[in-house]
Amino acid sequence: MKLLAGKVALITGAARGIGKAIALRLAQEGASIAFTDLAYDDVARATENELIALGVKAKAFASNAANFEDTHHVVDEIVKEFGHIDILVNNAGITRDGLLMRMTEQQWDMVINVNLKSAFNFTHAVIPTMVRQKSGSIINMSSVVGVSGNAGQANYSASKAGMIGLAKSVAKEFGSRNIRANAIAPGFIETEMTHALTDEQRAKWAEAIPLRRGGSPDEVAKVTLFLASDLSSYVSGQVIHVCGGMNT
Ligand code: NAD
Repeated sequence: MKLLAGKVALITGAARGIGKAIALRLAQEGASIAFTDLAYDDVARATENELIALGVKAKAFASNAANFEDTHHVVDEIVKEFGHIDILVNNAGITRDGLLMRMTEQQWDMVINVNLKSAFNFTHAVIPTMVRQKSGSIINMSSVVGVSGNAGQANYSASKAGMIGLAKSVAKEFGSRNIRANAIAPGFIETEMTHALTDEQRAKWAEAIPLRRGGSPDEVAKVTLFLASDLSSYVSGQVIHVCGGMNT
């Protein structure tokens, strides 16, 4: 039997990149997939079709994860459509890098709202359903820089550290309801987010990675599958690094 047969997974920001790889992995293991992204455009439609072609129920929803009302509205729609939510992956994220002295308030607010507040919004909206079901797995997509910090990414690092604190707190607050919460800390993963980096920045990253390469979105998705499934039934409040050995 497939690992996630009968389960419903909700993944934010999954039209492309790591979120899309997670949606495909979980679908291959039999989960029905509801995913969100900012717009229901050609990219989201293509991902939706790829998922449906795997033989599972899948639907894309347009929603701004940073918006509290929008999030509650879309989660209500998803519960109506899918009946329940067993797995929540808080994946939507952005960068607006810059040295702290030059960072604007807008750069700070945007990154905190899209990366961290979104995880609160979705957790807040989904938790009542999981409490009723007496089960659930929540996975926050953090980053190695949420653990180590990074010059030029004070906003991003703070948002990713916050996602770890949020996962650990949810693990403690809802463990008695059989709800688990964990964080994944990816290192350098080859997606559109990292394509924006210069060759010099890439070379610097590669030097710092013992495996001497960036990871693939599917390498993050495989760890997400572990945390989403009963393979990790006694794992909660943890951070798993997927970084080629960079942060040890
Ligand atoms: P990406 O830019 O390729 O994909 C992010 C997705 O989130 C996009 O589809 C985007 O439209 C969506 N999104 C952005 N703002 C949103 C919002 N307000 N509401 C809903 N959706 C929104 O990025 P990625 O590399 O796939 O990153 C996915 C997650 O993994 C992010 O949280 C990122 O911080 C984290 N991460 C990435 C790396 C990496 O090296 N790529 C490393 C560590 C952590």
